[in-house]
Amino acid sequence: CGVFGVYAPERQIAKLTYFGLYALQHRGQESAGIATLDGNKLYCHKDMGLVSQVFKESILNELGGQLAIGHTRYSTTGSSHKANAQPAVVETRLGSLALAHNGNLVNTLDLRQTLEQRGCQFNTSTDSEMIAVAIAQEVNSGKDWLEAAISAFQLCSGAYSLAIGTPAGLMGVRDPNGIRPLVIGILEGEPVRYVLASETCALDIIGAEYLRDVEPGELVWITESGLSSFHWATQPQRKLCIFEMIYFARPDSLMHDETLYTYRLRLGQQLARESVVKADLVMGVPDSGIPAAIGFSQVSGIPYGEGLIKNRYVGRTFIQPTQHMRESGIKMKLNPLKDVLDGKRIIMVDDSIVRGTTSRKIVKALRDAGAKQVHMRISSPPVTHPCFYGIDTDNQSQLIAATQSLEKIAEQIGVDSLAYLSWKGMLAVTGEDPNSFCSACFTGDYPIAIPEQVKRSKLM
Ligand code: 5GP
Ligand code: SF4
Ligand code: MG
Repeated sequence: CGVFGVYAPERQIAKLTYFGLYALQHRGQESAGIATLDGNKLYCHKDMGLVSQVFKESILNELGGQLAIGHTRYSTTGSSHKANAQPAVVETRLGSLALAHNGNLVNTLDLRQTLEQRGCQFNTSTDSEMIAVAIAQEVNSGKDWLEAAISAFQLCSGAYSLAIGTPAGLMGVRDPNGIRPLVIGILEGEPVRYVLASETCALDIIGAEYLRDVEPGELVWITESGLSSFHWATQPQRKLCIFEMIYFARPDSLMHDETLYTYRLRLGQQLARESVVKADLVMGVPDSGIPAAIGFSQVSGIPYGEGLIKNRYVGRTFIQPTQHMRESGIKMKLNPLKDVLDGKRIIMVDDSIVRGTTSRKIVKALRDAGAKQVHMRISSPPVTHPCFYGIDTDNQSQLIAATQSLEKIAEQIGVDSLAYLSWKGMLAVTGEDPNSFCSACFTGDYPIAIPEQVKRSKLM
């Protein structure tokens, strides 16, 4: 999911949030929402669909106030319908609270029970509402906003990057492991006003300057008098999701003071060092495989070219193609360039293989277009374990590398050769301490314990 927050009474906060969400659209295409607080009054508009489908100028004009939060949703818990769209809104004795969440709690069964014992009720099936309800319950038992939030976080286990709007101020929070990203920006002009966003690309689009990341286990509290910081977790550690860096976040977003484009370029360079093969052309699978393909070409000396053109306007396909179109193998999303591919030995670079279904289709399309050989190179290790922290990489039984050997995967995908980047190589080129990432989908080494019952739901 994508989260955004802004405190700026003198600005058009709903519009800033709209543009921020627009830049975070890749983090969730299912639903979008904005909540604003005008004094004690809360306004919220959310619906299914893309940001551009959910909001019109007239709606944004009605959303005013001192602060706004926004959300784009990609569902990992709770089904895909309007009631589960965020921000989640709850009432408390101190006024309304609106919450936007990215990540996934792993202890929802226990948490729900605890909260129900305290008399709480729920409107949705989402873990995000549970966090909001947990905070509200603490507020209603007499605490102020900050004390209440920090007490509530002690009950939560899992991944959560949050933007929370209250009548008293805006909160930005990361869980003690900092699994999902969250950054702080500063708006241009006076007085100094702060913005929160999942990624820096959402700051660029509104002309805000990147200040720093919210730290794991940190809460930032943004009000009329500025920003204050609370390190509330007893044992914070850095466990940023490495999949954010490899695939999920936008290549123009900054992590560790460089764009992910540059990191992905280095992944491709490392991949070439580890597994080059004789070929005529290196190409990337659009869009996510392209930076690594360029890096691969730089190190291998094999020319880089485009072999597939992506239709930019194919999003979620609400209208299914006709049976005839499907049977005749018409490609809605990626169309091969016959004259580029014909008779060539191709190295096709992609960021990851999850189920292997897309890869198989693409390889077939390249061969149909005349490619003589197709060598697949993947700029991350085999995905062998499911994610419980908010990336939808499916049940373990659906992951092709969980059950199959490298040779078998190559055979199923239909390539002449297949190689993945090593786990060490992937971490080494971050330039950071290898222990400061979660890479559990490649190793099964989960940094936050997964309750047995939850494990059983996704592990073989
Ligand atoms: P596959 O061959 O496994 O079906 O698809 C691999 C492609 O899916 C890669 O190009 C990769 O960019 C993309 N991908 C990687 N992770 C995810 C994910 O979590 N969800 C979706 N929808 N696509 C992903
Ligand atoms: Fe990211 Fe994989 Fe860890 Fe999930 S398991 S948080 S996708 S690195
Ligand atoms: Mg891709």
